[in-house]
Amino acid sequence: MQENVIPHNFSVDREMRKSIKGHGSFLLWFTGLSGSGKSTIANAVEKALVDKGIHTYILDGDNVRKGLNNNLTFSPEDRKENIRRIAEVANLMVDAGLVTLAAFVSPYEKDRENIKNILGADNYVEIFVNTPIEECERRDVKGLYAKARAGEIKDFTGVNAPYEAPQSPDVEIDTTKVTVEESVATIIAYIENKLNTDE
Ligand code: ADP
Repeated sequence: MQENVIPHNFSVDREMRKSIKGHGSFLLWFTGLSGSGKSTIANAVEKALVDKGIHTYILDGDNVRKGLNNNLTFSPEDRKENIRRIAEVANLMVDAGLVTLAAFVSPYEKDRENIKNILGADNYVEIFVNTPIEECERRDVKGLYAKARAGEIKDFTGVNAPYEAPQSPDVEIDTTKVTVEESVATIIAYIENKLNTDE
């Protein structure tokens, strides 16, 4: 079927959408263990961006796993497909002119590499929320570590499934060392140039 899918040349492009909005668009991808602080920081970054009049959208486990990807499990193949679909949706959102934030464990280097390929390196900012597992487990925000230790969840990252740490993330945050406000300031400073339409 693919060979019969011929793209149409639409007259409105990303540059035109960008000039209406007055800011650049790209994807902020938060990776890290469950409970590391991805959603908390992504939420605070989004709030700071909206306060600046920037158009944003957050993709996270709740709005994606329960809808678009509700047919996927946590097996390695399904995790790969989960990330691929999220990256394709994020790509459309970035094309639409939104600063898109995505908070997913995304434990595999190959899958994160794939996101970067789908978006293009210029449109992808990788944020590694590198909170030690002991702290994530102590927080156990959703009670999932306790369940995983009790053998009630299989394929739980950090307990009985691997997390491949990013080798060269754009931003790295250890939430045992910095506050949410400090993390937001670091991220906003990093993306300042990308937000600017003159770049
Ligand atoms: P994730 O999205 O990575 O699963 P969450 O953001 O849901 O993690 O949970 C992280 C928890 O850690 C929250 O309860 C948050 O209040 C707490 N926390 C404590 N200190 C920090 C910090 N400096 N940055 C982010 N979260 C923090």
